[in-house]
Amino acid sequence: MSLRDVLIALAYMIASACFVIGLMWLQSPKRARAGNLVSSLGMLLAILATLFVSGIKDYTMIIIGVLIGSTVGAVMARTVKMTAMPQMVGIFNGFGGGASALVAAAEFFKYATDPNMLTLDVSITIMLAMIVGAVTFSGSMIAAGKLQGVVNERPITYPYQNVINLIFFLTIVAAAVFLVINFGHPWVFLYMTVAALIFGVLFTIPIGGADMPVVICFLNALSGIAAAMAGFVIKNNALIIAGSLVGASGVILTQIMCWAMNRPITNVLFGAFGAVVTAGSGSATATTKTVKPIQADEAAILLAYAQLVIIVPGYGMAVSQAQHAVRQLADELAKRGVTVKYAIHPVAGRMPGHMNVLLAEANVPYDQLYDMDQINDEFQNADVALIVGANDVVNPAARYDKSSPIYGMPILNADHAKQIIVLKRSMNPGFAGIENELFYNEKTRMLFGDAKESLTKLINEVKNV
Ligand code: NDP
Repeated sequence: MSLRDVLIALAYMIASACFVIGLMWLQSPKRARAGNLVSSLGMLLAILATLFVSGIKDYTMIIIGVLIGSTVGAVMARTVKMTAMPQMVGIFNGFGGGASALVAAAEFFKYATDPNMLTLDVSITIMLAMIVGAVTFSGSMIAAGKLQGVVNERPITYPYQNVINLIFFLTIVAAAVFLVINFGHPWVFLYMTVAALIFGVLFTIPIGGADMPVVICFLNALSGIAAAMAGFVIKNNALIIAGSLVGASGVILTQIMCWAMNRPITNVLFGAFGAVVTAGSGSATATTKTVKPIQADEAAILLAYAQLVIIVPGYGMAVSQAQHAVRQLADELAKRGVTVKYAIHPVAGRMPGHMNVLLAEANVPYDQLYDMDQINDEFQNADVALIVGANDVVNPAARYDKSSPIYGMPILNADHAKQIIVLKRSMNPGFAGIENELFYNEKTRMLFGDAKESLTKLINEVKNV
C-alpha cells in the first residue's frame, strides 16, 4: 500500500466519522445546523480524497460535473419553499439512485470486455446497484411529481396490480440471476435496466399523495442501499459507509412515520391509500350540523383571558408561512401572563419534523414544544386549543371510526380543550381528504382566512384587549 493509498483511506475514515457525528448532532435542534455542516465537510473531504485515487486520467469531466452539480444544488437549496422540501428530497434521492445505477452500468461494460477480472461478489453487487438504483431513480421522480402536483396525486390502480408488479419484479430478478451466472449479454442487462426503471414507476403510481412523504423516506433508504452496493462494486469504503448510513436512517425514519400514522409499511406501499375518496366519519355530521364562525376580536378575548393556550400547528401554517406570526401572538399572550405551549404531532405537515423546523426558524423556544405523548393529557386543562392550519392530526374520527382512512392514527386531544379555535381558509379537508367532526364540535369556533392574516389580526386585537 502506497503512502497515497494510506492517506486516502485515512481521509475516508475521517469523512465517515464526520457522517456519524453529523447524524448524531442532527437529533437535537440545538446542534442540527452544526451536524449538517460536519456531515457536509465529511463529504467534501471524501470527494477531495477520491480525486487523488490512482487511475484518473482526465479531470475535465469531473470539474464540469462538480460545477453543474454544485450550481444546481445551491440554487435549489436557496429557492425551495419549505412546503416543497419533500419533493426536493425526492429528486435528490432519485439522483443518488441514478448515479449508483450509472456506476453499475459503467462497471458492467468494463467487466464485459474483460471478464477475467470479475469476481462473484462484484457481479452480484453490480446487478443490485443497477436494479435498486434504477427503481429509486424512476420511483423518486414519480413521487416528487405527485407531491408537486405534476403527476396525478391520487393512487392509480387497476385489477391484479400487485400480482402484475410481483411478476414484473420476478422477471427482473431472473435477468439479474442469469447475468450473474452468464456475465456479459448487454441486451439482458438493458432489459433488466429498463424493466427496473418501469418497475419504479409501477411501484409508485398506486401510492396516494398523502403517503408520498413516507415513500420518499423509503426511497431515501433505497438510494442509500444502492450507493452502498455501488461502493462495493468500485471498492470505495467511504461510499459503502455513507450509503449504509443513509439506508439505515431512511429505514428508521420510514418506520417512525408508519408508527405515527399507525399503519404498517405494507399498507402504505401496497394499500393504495386514498384511491377512493372516502367520506369517512363526519360526512353525515357535515350535512346535519353547522359550524360556528368567530371574528378576530372575539377570538382575541378568549385567548387574552385564558390561563393556558395550546397551539396546534399543521400543514396550513407551513403553507401560509405563519410561524413568525404564531410566535408574535404567543409573545403577546405571554406578556399578559398566559401560558402558551405548542403541541407537535409527529406527522403534522408534510414531512417529519416539519413543524419543529418552522417554529425553530421563528425562534420559538424549544422547551415550549411538546410531543404528542407529553401534551395530550394537558388539553383538558387548556382554556383554548388554537389550531393553526392543522386538520387530520386533530380529527377525532381516528379514535373510533373504523371506516375512516385515518382510523388508528394517534391524534392530538384538541377536542378535550375547553374552547377550540380553528384557523383555516374554508371547510376543505386536509391531506387524507376527509371531513373533520371537530369543526362541528359545540366548543369549536372557526376563524376563517389565511392563517398568517388571521394571526396578524389576532395579534392586533390581543394588544387592544
Ligand atoms: P392537513 O393536511 O390535514 O390539513 C391542513 C389544513 O391546512 C387544511 O385543512 C387546509 O384547509 C389548511 N390550510 C391550507 N392552507 C392554509 C392557509 N394558507 N391558511 C390557513 N389554513 C390553511 O394537515 P395536518 O398537518 O393536520 O396533517 C398532516 C397530514 O399529512 C396527515 O394526514 C398526515 O398523515 C399526512 N402526512 C404527513 C407526513 C409527515 O411526515 N408530516 C407524512 C405522510 C403523510 P383550508 O384549505 O380550508 O385552508
